[in-house]
Amino acid sequence: MNTITPDIRHYKKPVELPMTREEIGSTTILFGGLTLNHEHLLKGAIEGLGYRADYLPVPDNRALQTGKEYGNRGQCNPTYYTVGNLIRYLNGLKERGIKDIEKKFVFLTAAACGPCRFGMYEAEYRKSLQNAGFDNFRILTFEQSDQFGETSGGGLDMNKEFYAALIKSLVLGDMLNEAGYRIRPYEESKGETDGVIAQYREKLSGALRTGSPIIAHLKELHSRLSAIRVNYLQVRPLVQIIGEFWAQTTEGDGNYRLARWLESEGAEVKLEPVSTWIDYLLWSSMLEEKERLRIRPMKSAGRMLGIYMLRRLFLFYFNTYRRALGSWIHKLPSQHRLAQYANPYFDVHITGGEGHLEVGKHIMAFKDRKAHMVVSVKPFGCMPSTLSDGVQSKVTSDLPDSIFLSIETSGDAEINVKSRVQMKLYEARQRAKEEFTAVLSSHGVHADRLRDTVTRKPGLANPLVSLPQEYTGTAANFAVWAVNRGR
Ligand code: SF4
Repeated sequence: MNTITPDIRHYKKPVELPMTREEIGSTTILFGGLTLNHEHLLKGAIEGLGYRADYLPVPDNRALQTGKEYGNRGQCNPTYYTVGNLIRYLNGLKERGIKDIEKKFVFLTAAACGPCRFGMYEAEYRKSLQNAGFDNFRILTFEQSDQFGETSGGGLDMNKEFYAALIKSLVLGDMLNEAGYRIRPYEESKGETDGVIAQYREKLSGALRTGSPIIAHLKELHSRLSAIRVNYLQVRPLVQIIGEFWAQTTEGDGNYRLARWLESEGAEVKLEPVSTWIDYLLWSSMLEEKERLRIRPMKSAGRMLGIYMLRRLFLFYFNTYRRALGSWIHKLPSQHRLAQYANPYFDVHITGGEGHLEVGKHIMAFKDRKAHMVVSVKPFGCMPSTLSDGVQSKVTSDLPDSIFLSIETSGDAEINVKSRVQMKLYEARQRAKEEFTAVLSSHGVHADRLRDTVTRKPGLANPLVSLPQEYTGTAANFAVWAVNRGR
């Protein structure tokens, strides 16, 4: 019998080039993709673990072009922006005459096995880097979904200390961001809030590097923020930015610098904390293990314990830092509640991207009066966000009073996108004004009289006063607080 043996050549993952222990002192770990506050703190935290670290500049549209030039077709935007940014940075080093770049630098990024392109990031980065002439450049990954505590590459320990450092810097970055976005729109002396935040970004990063007490710096920060004078009677629409993780977080062209632009248009912005994302990852990993408990009880029970311990560590840092800032920072939204809101529309077992979060956050913003308007940012080519957007049409038809806008960011069409946002922002502004007027009339107070009281009492200009959360807008809540205080 004539047998034909087919020429089967299975795909094999390229051999990883590790960063060895001996290289720790001479290799810089690069990273990027978050906000400046997060990245500066992360740099301090990684250096505190004994590594050399630096963050990449904020990716812009030139990075997008470079990413497209060297990458595969059909990738989602965050891949192009990130790898393009990295290639531009490495080329910049080359131009400055730095030798042995592939030996002296590595790139650290999160990785996950998942249904969207995120699972292929590492491979895509490698391909693009090879095309750009950095054949042996190393990408180090840490698992963000279900393998907490593993190590990647001999020279970088993904141990408990590593995750603790990561958690501390991300939580602190969230808190600095929140302070900035809540106080800055109302400050009386322009630039003061940013000045204080820049100073404490530096101090906290130094504390993470040297191991000096963080709480002392946070208490100091609390008193520095209290000294900023604000006028919370300025009626501003509260706009929550949600969407795909990278697109909602970046401060560059990847979302047309949306948060700062909205602020310049008169809005108060509610930025999604990275902590909500961490909490979601832990919540969804726990859900998965609970479901597997019947199939592999021992393994799942062990993993559930690991996730539980990690969540305790995360909440310990979050709550401790929050208390040091006078408990003024918002609590994290309940993952259980977000899932409950999303579940009638979006199966919470579906993962990838933000999973059910985009839908849950939209509904929560409306029903729990967390924002006047929600903007959902979807990077061009993003599969999970496209899925969420399809579902959001049903949500908006069920909640016709919600002011919701989904935008796709592709690097171009900035004017069109911003003009769509402006139209919705007009509605949100009206909503905020109506709410404020209703609050004044229900309390029988005239706006001018209230303004007069605020001018006469300096204690009312402290930004860190604890306002009730009865209404959506800061001005409305402040009016209730000021009236009750005057009684
Ligand atoms: S969530 Fe969207 S943008 Fe993010 S990696 Fe997945 S497909 Fe890409």
